[in-house]
Amino acid sequence: INITKAEYIASAVESSQFPEEKLRQIAFIGRSNVGKSSLINSLTRFHNLARVSGQPGKTQTINFFKLTAKYYKDATTKDFYLVDLPGYGYAKTGQDKRKKWAVFIEKYFLFPQDLYCVCQLIDIRHEPMPSDVKMFNWLIEHDIPVFVIATKADKIGKGTVAKNISRIKKALNVRELTILPYSSTKNEGRSYLLDFIGQALVE
Ligand code: GDP
Repeated sequence: INITKAEYIASAVESSQFPEEKLRQIAFIGRSNVGKSSLINSLTRFHNLARVSGQPGKTQTINFFKLTAKYYKDATTKDFYLVDLPGYGYAKTGQDKRKKWAVFIEKYFLFPQDLYCVCQLIDIRHEPMPSDVKMFNWLIEHDIPVFVIATKADKIGKGTVAKNISRIKKALNVRELTILPYSSTKNEGRSYLLDFIGQALVE
């Protein structure tokens, strides 16, 4: 697919603000500063759809973007929501804010909707943090499909990518899992992710 249209719909701080239109959703989550905004911008190629922030941990809203996917093979289109979930694990975030985050995120996940999967972003350079593992396990326990994307792949040598991907799998305690290395600066992994989304919208 190609993304032919991308528009900002809403930022929600409570579930009553979730969009009414029932479109399939693909959500993105990860630690603050993992490169989520950059990935969303690289994917949509509409600059600053998701703001790349110099101040991690600031946005605590759930942002909905309505995207149009156009299939190469027959030029048909499908609309869907790309859902930008607030980042977790920011060191300076206080206890109450964290708790608020958890309650809100849980509300989103348990809200009746057509959520196809959650793309969980993990920095390829480091060993996954306990908060990454916790998030992953929570999603699995709640039967929410997860697609793990290893971000900032350009920041490590090509020879290290496979090794670091294995390290992530090990930390998540999964053997059979496709983890996609992604670079927003080089758009590496972009066509794979677009194909994945294209499939997701017809399944
Ligand atoms: P967010 O907090 O998860 O939305 O993270 P951002 O998208 O704001 O990115 C955090 C920082 O990492 C910024 O300085 C980005 O420029 C940088 N960054 C994000 N993705 C990549 C990438 O794929 N490659 C490189 N080299 N830097 C990246």
